[in-house]
Formats: sequence, structure tokens, C-alpha cells
Amino acid sequence: MSMLVNGMDVYACYQCGKCSASCPVYFAMDILPHQILRLLQIGEMDQVLDCESIWLCTLCSACSTRCPRGVDLPVIIEELRRAGLRRVSGPGRSQRAFHNSVLRSLERHGRVYKAGLAVSGHLSTGSRQRDARLVLALLKRGKLRMWPSRIRGRLVVRGFFQRVQAGQEGEKDV
Ligand code: SF4
Ligand code: SF4
Repeated sequence: MSMLVNGMDVYACYQCGKCSASCPVYFAMDILPHQILRLLQIGEMDQVLDCESIWLCTLCSACSTRCPRGVDLPVIIEELRRAGLRRVSGPGRSQRAFHNSVLRSLERHGRVYKAGLAVSGHLSTGSRQRDARLVLALLKRGKLRMWPSRIRGRLVVRGFFQRVQAGQEGEKDV
């Protein structure tokens, strides 16, 4: 039996747990890396798409490097994020909003505009009051820039986004 997610067979995983033991952000995850694989194996896709872990993953590849079965979890997580972004509600809403804000900031400025990110995160989730206070304090101390700074090659970065978007639209047309 096989089930491919982004070309990776989730049934290759035999639940040894090495990925979770290697993960640098396991402490913040609501579902551990090996549990994500297990849920996929038993068809609990909704539970995976609603979890916070797929947005907290840093795609560092520590898990896949140590996996004895060659399961490339970051590749699977990228596909789960794509699927998650198409959902409009669910517990992962604030993580999706944050993820989108980071991408829009990169597309616009070529780098992350941190003050803007905090404001848009606050507006889109309505649940980041502590962050908003922290941003104000950092602005007052000159630790954050009020206005965005743009990198010289931002049009090149924007081109990457356009190519990805064109690829996704092409996939939809197939
Ligand atoms: S290390 Fe590999 S085989 Fe082990 S639980 Fe993680 S994904 Fe599965
Ligand atoms: S790629 Fe993601 S799941 Fe794997 S070790 Fe890094 S943070 Fe953890």
C-alpha cells in the first residue's frame, strides 16, 4: 500500500519517533512530527491540516536527515501547507494568516517588514495584543523600523512569486 504526498510515501514511516526526537521546535508543536505521519497513514487529513505544527515547522530537515526510512517530512509539510492555505476556517487560522503575511511582506519588500507584520498579524487574528504592546515598546526604543526598507533585488524576488503563482495556476488548469 502507498499514499503519496508531494511524491513521498507516508506508509514508508514505521513510527520510530526519530523525527520527533530530532525536531528543534517539538516543544511548541501540538502534534509531533511522527504523529503527523501516523495521522496521514490513517486518513486523518483534517486533523493534520488544522494543527499548528505544520506552520511551526522551520523546514530545517533535521528530521529527514535522521529518518531511517528516507521520509522527507519537510517536503510533505510543504504540500500540507499548500492544502492548509486553501482552507478558510479552522484552528490553524492565525498561523495561516501569519504565514501569508510573511509571504506578502517578502513579495513586496524583498525582506520581512517586521513592524508591518506585527500589525497585519494583529489585524488578521485579533489575538495578538501582547505582540502589539511589544512592537510599540520596540518602536519606542528604536529596535524596530517604523517604515519598511526594501532590498535592491526586490523585483527579482517578486519574479519568484510570480513564477510560483503562474505554476500554481497552470496546475489548476490541468
Ligand atoms: S524518523 Fe522516519 S520512520 Fe521514524 S517516525 Fe519519523 S518519519 Fe517515521
Ligand atoms: S523540518 Fe520541521 S518537523 Fe522536521 S525537524 Fe525541522 S522543524 Fe521539525
